[in-house]
Amino acid sequence: MNIDKYYEIKNSLPAQTKLIAVSKTKPAEDIQTLYNEGQRAFGENKAQEMKAKHEALPKDIEWHFIGHLQTNKIKYIAPYVTLIHSIDSEPLLQEINKYAVKNDRVISCLLQFHVAEEETKFGFSLEECEAMLQGEVFPTLKNVQICGVMGMGTNTDDMEQVRNEFRHLHQIFITLKEKYFADDPAFKELSMGMTDDYPIAVEEGSTLVRVGSAIFGARQYNIPVND
Ligand SMILES: *Cc1c(COP(=O)(O)O)cnc(C)c1O
Repeated sequence: MNIDKYYEIKNSLPAQTKLIAVSKTKPAEDIQTLYNEGQRAFGENKAQEMKAKHEALPKDIEWHFIGHLQTNKIKYIAPYVTLIHSIDSEPLLQEINKYAVKNDRVISCLLQFHVAEEETKFGFSLEECEAMLQGEVFPTLKNVQICGVMGMGTNTDDMEQVRNEFRHLHQIFITLKEKYFADDPAFKELSMGMTDDYPIAVEEGSTLVRVGSAIFGARQYNIPVND
């Protein structure tokens, strides 16, 4: 846990860019420590882990879901999640809408795009996403609010490549804004940038940076998580 680094990152961000502290795999005590410094937005990528932390921690925390979401896990986050960054299919959005109705709320979501080179990263292509936005189902989903787009850069030292991927994502944001969300002030978020590339993401217009290991330290993935 590096509080100095937290302040360094936070103070480096322009006014239009918000810091989401990615606390996945880290204990609730680490979140509480950062909460005590004033941080309110935290990112998690496992539904059950988020639920347990939500129950244990102050209720004014904003919970951002940033991982691949399976439809059978939506129930663990639907009552309180602030923003789901990772919508990558219409069936997922439909299921989230169902749980939003059950919980009598509107759930804010971002459309995730695949802009990186790696095969493994989830997300829509622009073509797939436009097919959804032009389809008959999308307008019926009244309990989800699309607030913008999210993406991840390729994990590479080639920062010019990452910059081009972020530019591509920004261009997708502009295209969708003009074609489908021009009259919708809620569509305003461009979620991009992590520990290794957030300064570039900020230069390319990010409004939400998702930074984990720079703040909380390297993650250990051999701890079993119940998810
Ligand atoms: C883990 C994760 C992050 C944070 O990664 P760091 O490199 O630790 O900053 C950001 N976004 C997503 C989608 C993640 O899964």
